[in-house]
Order: sequence, then structure tokens, then C-alpha cells
Amino acid sequence: MADTMSEMVDAALAAAKPRCGEGTVADYIPALAKVDPNQIGLAVATTDGVCHTAGDADTPFSIQSVSKVFTLALALERTSDALWSCVGREPSGTAFNSIVQLESENGRPRNPLINAGAIAVTDRLIGDRSTEETIAELVGFLRERAVDDTIEIDEEVAQSEAKAGARNRSLAHFMAAFDNLTQPVETALGAYFRQCALSLSCRQLAQAGLFLACNGRDPKTGAQIISEERCRRINAVMMTCGHYDNSGEFAFRVGLPGKSGVGGGILAIAPGRGAIAAWSPGLNKAGTSLAGSAALEHFAKAAGWSVFD
Ligand code: GLN
Repeated sequence: MADTMSEMVDAALAAAKPRCGEGTVADYIPALAKVDPNQIGLAVATTDGVCHTAGDADTPFSIQSVSKVFTLALALERTSDALWSCVGREPSGTAFNSIVQLESENGRPRNPLINAGAIAVTDRLIGDRSTEETIAELVGFLRERAVDDTIEIDEEVAQSEAKAGARNRSLAHFMAAFDNLTQPVETALGAYFRQCALSLSCRQLAQAGLFLACNGRDPKTGAQIISEERCRRINAVMMTCGHYDNSGEFAFRVGLPGKSGVGGGILAIAPGRGAIAAWSPGLNKAGTSLAGSAALEHFAKAAGWSVFD
């Protein structure tokens, strides 16, 4: 008899666990350097509304760049396709915080999932609102999607990144020099640092991302959260750009759209099937969790989940 979903989640965690602690934690953000690398969690939320978990799936962690998927969804709702005038949708083949392309391409970031692109997206998401209102919308969105009002921003992590944010400041000033920011640099960055400091567990993250596996709908009520077309497009951008210069390797191994964060979290989407969140703090050179991507690879293979079916 085929393994049940819970058995496959447990088996994927057990298979990846020996890799726990491999790689390096993101010590360029001092608050993240303190995280115990020997943790691993996995959660699979299926379209029928069930969430299967294993390991440290209820421990909150800093979702960092995984937040870029949610700000992209909200900014597209707010500005519609006009957003694409400030940011492209091609893989960069460079590190998440690289500045090289930004100069040669006149301050228009390659895609919304590298840092420069995400800062531009957050800038547009703010629009004519205050940072507080914008962040409240984002937190509210995640709470509603995950059906969990305990989701918060870790302000210590946000401040830690703001202090150590020279690289992101450079990217933002560069875009400002090309008139590709509508807000003052520190306003756009203040919101960006806070979105990156959102603290979610694997269970919360998988539930929050589930609408992306359901054609943009709420799996329980059927309400359309974002349009089907936009949902497909966000998944396409995650597939091609979600892991920076590691995106090809992730597609090759896991076969699903995904987004990594330097807190060690990864959100992967299996359209029509479910959302998977894996977390373990040790990262490879591209900032993707080593044990987390191993858990995803094992699970996707066992469950037969791939967009290349
Ligand atoms: N907050 C991080 C940064 O801007 C996000 C990077 C990431 O998770 N890849 O450097």
C-alpha cells in the first residue's frame, strides 16, 4: 500500500535530518547568527485543508526572502501589471544582493525576488500609504491566509538587519539614482527590513502559501484571493527566480516553484496539490537551506509532486 502523506512527511524529515547543521547560518544579519543550526521542520498543507508536519514545524523562524512572494502578490493586486515597469521577470543568475546587473540595466532589477527587485516591489506596495499601514496589510494578509493571529514581526531581527543593511542601502540608492523608487530610500528599506523579519513556523508558512497551490483561491471558502492568471505567473517567477543563482539546481532536484530565505526557510508550491514549507538554518552559498531543500527533494519524489509530471 502507498505511504500516507504523514508517513512521507516523516520519512522526508528523517532522510534530511543528517544534513542538519551543514552549511552556514546567515551571520551577516547578527540576530540570525544566534539561531541554533540543529533544527529542522517540515509542513505540507494540502488543498483539502489538512496540514501534515514533522520535526520543528511549530518553531517560528525568520522567513526573510520568502516574504517577497507575499509582497509581490499584494503589490500586483494594488498596482496591477503597471508593477512590471519597475522590475523584470528574468532569472538573474547572480547572488540575491548583487549590484552588478543593476548598473548595466539602468536601475531596473531583473526580477522581484532578488533584493533590489523586492525593494522596488515594496516601494510600490507602500504607494500613498504609511509604512505602518503597509506592514499591517501584509501581516493581516498572512494571518488571514494562515488562519493564525499570532503571526508577528520580530522587531529585533528587523533592527539588526537595518543596522547591518549597507548592501541593501546601496541597492536602494542605486535604484533611486535611476528614478526607480517612489519613496525615500529609508522608507522603502524600513518596510523591506520589517517584511523580511516576519516570524512564521513551517505550519504557518505552508498554510499561508496554500492559495498559490489553489489557483489563487482560499482552499476552504473558495474565495478568489488573487486571479488564477496572476497565481500561475507568481509560481512561474518562483520557479525561475526563487533561489537566485541556485534556481536551476532547485528546479532540477525538487521540480516545484519555490522561494528560499536566509533564515533557512523554503516555501514550495505544488499546483493543485499543496504548499510545502521546510526550514533548517544551515545555508548553501546561494542562501538556500541545505537540509530544508533535501527534505523537499525527498518529499516531492516520494509524493510524485512535480510541475513536470
Ligand atoms: N533580508 C535579507 C537581505 O536582504 C533577505 C535575503 C534572503 O533571504 N535571501 O539580505
